[in-house]
Amino acid sequence: MLETDRQSDKRWEAVASRDRSADGTFYYAVRTTGVYCRPSCASRLPRRENVSFHASCAAAEAAGFRACKRCRPAERTPVEAQLAAVSKACAILAERETAPPLAELAAAVGVSPFHFHRLFKQVIGATPREYARARPTPRASARARAPTRTRSRAWA
Ligand SMILES: [Zn+2]
Repeated sequence: MLETDRQSDKRWEAVASRDRSADGTFYYAVRTTGVYCRPSCASRLPRRENVSFHASCAAAEAAGFRACKRCRPAERTPVEAQLAAVSKACAILAERETAPPLAELAAAVGVSPFHFHRLFKQVIGATPREYARARPTPRASARARAPTRTRSRAWA
């Protein structure tokens, strides 16, 4: 069997079982409706012969399909949005000499400070403060402007 057939089989299985863990790894499009979906979409299962698989929303749209109104494949899932927020925070920390206060960082990525702290630790495995301390500082002088005691507590 060709590798592409095997991949299609696996993808079809994911669609048939509405496998959430497959979301984001590919999209399926239905020829008869002209719509493309996430694997976990709750809409009625199409006939396999009408289904094509696409690696990205852009690929499905380039093939002439439009996004399903039910599973909204072109929008971020909550998990994707969280990962995007954390990676944006890392980018901000990487370009600053001194780490901004947690509240400022959280606001910059659009997450509440309490939730942001937990989310960051969950994804990165360190608090934003630990992450900021571990990153290489652009200049030695940055160390002289270490966060104040109060700020440290707010970050802990
Ligand atoms: Zn859908």
